[in-house]
Amino acid sequence: MALTGLQIQKLLPKTNCKECGSNTCLAFAMKLAAKKADLSECPYASEEAKQVLGAASEPPVKLIELGPDQSLKIGAETVLYRHEKTFVHQTAFAVNINDTDSHEEIERTLHSIGEYVLERVGEQIRIDMVSITHKGNDAHAFVALAKKAWETLKRPLVLCSSDIQALIEAAQVVKGSHSVLVSASPETGDQLLIAARDNDHALAVTAPDLNELVQLTAKFKQDGFNHLILDIDTLSLSEKFQAFSIARRAALKDNYKPLGYPFITFLEAPTSPDDDLLDSTFSAVTDICKYGGICVFPLFDPAQLSALMTIRMNIYTDPQKPIQVEPKLYAIGEPKPSSPVFVTTNFSLTYFIVSGEIENSGISAWLFVPECEGMSVLTAWAAGKFSGATIGKFAKEIGLDNLVTTRNIIIPGYVSQISGELEENLPGWKVLVGPQDASDLESFIKARLLGS
Ligand code: SF4
Repeated sequence: MALTGLQIQKLLPKTNCKECGSNTCLAFAMKLAAKKADLSECPYASEEAKQVLGAASEPPVKLIELGPDQSLKIGAETVLYRHEKTFVHQTAFAVNINDTDSHEEIERTLHSIGEYVLERVGEQIRIDMVSITHKGNDAHAFVALAKKAWETLKRPLVLCSSDIQALIEAAQVVKGSHSVLVSASPETGDQLLIAARDNDHALAVTAPDLNELVQLTAKFKQDGFNHLILDIDTLSLSEKFQAFSIARRAALKDNYKPLGYPFITFLEAPTSPDDDLLDSTFSAVTDICKYGGICVFPLFDPAQLSALMTIRMNIYTDPQKPIQVEPKLYAIGEPKPSSPVFVTTNFSLTYFIVSGEIENSGISAWLFVPECEGMSVLTAWAAGKFSGATIGKFAKEIGLDNLVTTRNIIIPGYVSQISGELEENLPGWKVLVGPQDASDLESFIKARLLGS
C-alpha cells in the first residue's frame, strides 16, 4: 500500500532543518507521498525509514530490463486498463529456434529475424528477442546455438531447457545479453537462481497455478533475487487469461508483491503445415491486451508478426498523447518547386494516410503540415488549430512562399469552409478544395491536376 504523507512524516527526523529543500519534514513527506521527491534528499533519514519507504516505493509490477544495453523493458505497469492512463512497456516478441532444427533452417531463421523490419507510422519495428529451445539430447548443440544466436543478433534470448546443466552453461556463454532463463521450479530453482544472478539474467518461474507461483516467487525474493518473470504452465487460453488478470489485479490493487512481475507465454506450435495460425494469433492478441510481458512465437511468420506488431502498437500508444509528425513541408516523391502543395494535420495516422495516397497516385507533390497538436482534420478544425489563420501563420513561419513556386494549395474537403480565410492569410495563393476522404485523392489528382 502507498503510504500517506502523515505516515511518512512519522518516519522522518522531524527536526525541520530544511536541508532537503522543504521547509518542514511534513512538507517533504507530502512530496515523497506524491513521488515528487526522493528520500535520499534527506541526509538524516534513518535505516528504518529507508527500509520502509524503499519497499513502499517499489513499483507494483517489477521492471525487468533485458538486452545488452538493458533497453528492452517489460513490467512496471501501473494500471489495469489502458484507458485509465496508459500501458508503458509493450509485450516483447521472441521468435523461437529449436536446437533440433536443421542447419539450413537455423541459418534461415536467424537471418529472417535479423532482417525483419516493419515500418508503421514512421517507426521501424524489429523482433525483440530470440528464443532457443533445447529439444534434442545434445546439450552442446543447445549451448552452441544459444552462443551463435547471441553473437549473430546481439538481442536478448529466452533460453529454454529442462537440462539444468545445459541451461547453466548457456547462461554463462551469453553473459552480458541480459536474457531470460526458462524455467525455475521447486526442484531447479536454487541452481538456476545462482546461474541467473551470476550471469545477470532474469529467471522465469514456472508453476501450473498461481498458488504455486506465489510460493516460488516469495522464496526467491527472500533469497534476495527479484529479477523474476512469471510463467503459468498451461496452453489453455482461458486459464492463462484468468491467471494473468487475477495476478495483475492483486499486484496493482492490493500491492501484492509475490505476483508483481511480468509474464512470459509460449504460443502453441502449428499442428500441421496447413495451420492458419489463427489460434496462436488470438492467444498473442490476448497477451498484448492482458498482460503479457514476453510472447514467444514458435516460428517466424512475417504475416503473423506484422499484424500483431500493429495491434501492439495500438494498445501501447499513450491514449492521452496523439502520435504526431513534425510540422513542416514534406516532399512526397521528388517534387519540383512548381509541384502542387497539399495540406493536412500533423496527426501521424492522417499524415501517413494522405502521403500514402499521394504516393499511390504516381505524382510528386508537397505535403504541408502545420502544428495541430496531433489532432485529426475535423478535430483540429473544431479546436481552432486548423484554420485559415493558423495555416497561413505557419506558412509564413517556414517561408512557404520561398520554398515553392506554385501558388495552388489543396485543403481537405472536410474543411472547405476555411478556403476564403486561408486565401486572405496567404496572399497570392489559390485554394483548391480536395476530397473529404484521402482514399479519393488519387481520382481527385487525376481529374483536377492531371486533367484526365
Ligand atoms: Fe526533515 Fe530531513 Fe528535510 Fe531536515 S532534511 S527538514 S530532517 S526531511
